[in-house]
Amino acid sequence: MARVLFLGGLGRSGTTLVERLLGELPGVCALGEVVHLWQRDLRDDERCGCGARFSACAFWRRVGQYAFGGWHNVDVDRVHALRDAVERTRHIPRLATAVEAPDEVHEYAHFYARVYTAAAEIAGAKVVVDSSKHSALAHVLRWAPDIDLRVVHVVRDARGVAYSWTKTVSRPETDGADEMTRYSPGRSALLWNAHNAAFGLLAKRGVAVHRMRYEEFLADPRSALLELGDFAGLRLTDQDLDFLGDGYADLGVGHSAAGNPMRFTVGRLPLRRDDAWKRSLPRNQRRLVGTVCAPMLRAYGYPLSVTSPDSPLEENR
Ligand SMILES: [Zn+2]
Repeated sequence: MARVLFLGGLGRSGTTLVERLLGELPGVCALGEVVHLWQRDLRDDERCGCGARFSACAFWRRVGQYAFGGWHNVDVDRVHALRDAVERTRHIPRLATAVEAPDEVHEYAHFYARVYTAAAEIAGAKVVVDSSKHSALAHVLRWAPDIDLRVVHVVRDARGVAYSWTKTVSRPETDGADEMTRYSPGRSALLWNAHNAAFGLLAKRGVAVHRMRYEEFLADPRSALLELGDFAGLRLTDQDLDFLGDGYADLGVGHSAAGNPMRFTVGRLPLRRDDAWKRSLPRNQRRLVGTVCAPMLRAYGYPLSVTSPDSPLEENR
């Protein structure tokens, strides 16, 4: 039975960084955002984290062989049709309360289970990490056969997330042809509420969910990784964390199939808190997001009033 650590949360919450660090741990194989594998890799043949085109990556070729007798046997149209039918945020209430799921949910979950099982086998890993993030997929995976699902719910301050969604980021795997999606702060605030609430619901359904604040993870990555290791059932020693230095991590080559451009980083990666939003997210937008997300920001322990470094008295009342 493959043990799967699913990294969930709204995009731009730091899941890629968490995944990269997890991928350095012995016994862990980080797969990237498997949700995008079908389109971006099988169809578009984008680049794997190792730099090779997906079709040329030996790791993924072996995974495809083991899981499906070759990727050519995967009916991508069928996967997309299933995704459209079941993996929707609006379906979460139904997925979360269902005692038995429709056949389509089982069929869709089965594709993922086969990828996880194959990857664990090929990599000889105790744990595979899927950083797909989507809460609806996490709910679907409740029905995946023969996997031991453990969800890490990564939460980041909604105002930092909102600021990040306003920025333009190119996608190097498409050789500059494409940019990552952008959202207005109002839109990302609503998404932040919906997705984070969905992970709360998942925990209520009996799935193992470990919630982690991204800011705390960055403040002390060593302790946070030891905690995640415990949650994943890994027995880590201090030497296992030797790739972490004071304020940086040394990363090796990974085979992340899709996701944030950071998946291509090899070598020294600085680990520092990104509080640029405190200076750069306009005050009215900061207030809007703070208001829309207030109940859950409070529940997660974030301060509602934020002091801007440039004007110390602003909003400090
Ligand atoms: Zn690769």
